[in-house]
This record gives sequence, C-alpha cells and structure tokens, in this order.
Amino acid sequence: MTAKYSIQSTLQLAYNQLKDVSESAWLDAEVLLSHCLNKPRSYLKAWPETELDAGINARYQQLIAQRLQHKPVAYLTGTREFWSRPFKVTEDVLIPRPDTELLIEVSLPLIPHNDCRILDLGTGSGIIAITLGLERPHATLNATDKSEAALQVAKDNASHLGAHNIQFRVSDWFSQLATDTFDFILSNPPYIKAGDQHLSQGDVQHEPKTALIAAQQGLADILAIAHQAPRHLNAGGHLLIEHGFDQQADVQHIFSEAGFSAIQTHIDLAGNPRITSGLWNPS
Ligand code: GLN
Repeated sequence: MTAKYSIQSTLQLAYNQLKDVSESAWLDAEVLLSHCLNKPRSYLKAWPETELDAGINARYQQLIAQRLQHKPVAYLTGTREFWSRPFKVTEDVLIPRPDTELLIEVSLPLIPHNDCRILDLGTGSGIIAITLGLERPHATLNATDKSEAALQVAKDNASHLGAHNIQFRVSDWFSQLATDTFDFILSNPPYIKAGDQHLSQGDVQHEPKTALIAAQQGLADILAIAHQAPRHLNAGGHLLIEHGFDQQADVQHIFSEAGFSAIQTHIDLAGNPRITSGLWNPS
C-alpha cells in the first residue's frame, strides 16, 4: 500500500527540507502547494487533513526539488504580485521587487490624470509601465527593453491586465526613440556591480544577469540614461531612477552633472535610499 499524505504532513515535510535554503520556507511550501492544487492558501488551512492525490504530490515534489536548488518561487509559479496586481514572470525577466513600488509611489502624485507622455526604460515584465498605465488611463506610455523575450512577457502582462495605452519597443535605452519626448522617464535599470557577492548567492543566481549587473561599479546604465534623458524630456519633465542602497551620492552627482534640478532621493521601506528624481527645467 502506498503511503498517503495529508496537506498538513506534506507541508511539514517540505518545510523541513526547505528551511536550510530559504528564509521563507513555510510560506514557500504553502505557496507552491496551493499553486499545484490551484487553490488559495486559505484552502490549505481549512483542509489540513485532506489527502493529496499522487499526481499532485509528484508535481509538488518536483517543485520542492527545484526550490532546493534556489529556483525562486516566482519562477516556479510563473507569477508575482506588484502594486496588488498579478504579473506573469519567466526567467527572461527580473522578478518584481517591493522596492520598485516606491518608484510608483513617488511618481503617481507627480503624474496628472489628463493626457501626458510616460517612458519606462528596461521594462522587463512591464510592472512600471503597466501599473502607471492602469493608474493613469489617459496617459500615453512607451515601454522599451533590449530583450525581445522580456518584451513579450511585458506585452502578455499588458493584455492580461487590460493596459491598452502602452506601446512596446525593442530598444537599447533611447536608441530606437529618435526624437520622441516625454513628460516622465522612469527606469529600474541594472545597478549591481560585477563581482558583487550577492550575485552568487541564493535565488538571484537564477535571474537574468543583464537585468542586474552594470559596468562602472553598477553606475554605467544610470549614467547613460541620465545623460541622454534631457534630449527626450519636455521642459518641466521628470526623471526617476531606482538605484542601489549605497549609490545615493553618486546618482545625485550624475543627475546634477546632467543638468537636472530639484534632485531628491527617496527612502524605501527598509530605510535605504532607493529612488532619485530630478526635474528637467532648462534655463
Ligand atoms: N522594470 C522591471 C522591474 O522593475 C525590470 C527591471 C530590470 O530588469 N532591471 O522589475
């Protein structure tokens, strides 16, 4: 007779395996099981004695084995929430981070409810462009990425979430934007320096390196964006960029050299400087 496992005992076994590789072992175990069952996590709590059928259990054990190799939960379930909306993610895109919600929080009060033009550079899964597109339905948005595979994920997210005011373009930063101008330019570019110890540890190993790493101590892409942005900003326009917790002084300096005024750095929930914004007001 084959052993039968209840939801509760299966979760407990998975937790025991995962606790050495994940700081969120119990949550991971629950999220992956509810994904296999196609039920909300509350179902697991409501029916702890329910026995799992063999097919579901086999699928779950495959996911746990991959999680033990540090494969991120978001890649295993194919989804991650951002600004309370579910976004599809694949290994072609960076997994949305709560830090990036600060970029939305800082930009929304600046963006009018009537027509305006917004650009999201390096859109990845599309979280920034799509969130702003949905929050400001009268705005016209452009979203770029140099990866066609990433752009496909972003397009799928836009259509699934009903954001119809975004044009997607393959472009290496501004390369394909000709003389287009915008009122807001936003980006969460790569900003980690090559060789940073965090890159070889844990879940981040599975994320696309091109989405994470930048030359010049992690500042090369921020530098390129800030210096090219003025040609693509209308007078009174804003540039908002996410950066590393230790890059505030460098990024402020880059903004200032590029001619921006009213430069401000905003602090994330963990207390780290995370977003710098500047105003383009040429004299
Ligand atoms: N804009 C996307 C995000 O914020 C992708 C960022 C990136 O790949 N560096 O998640």
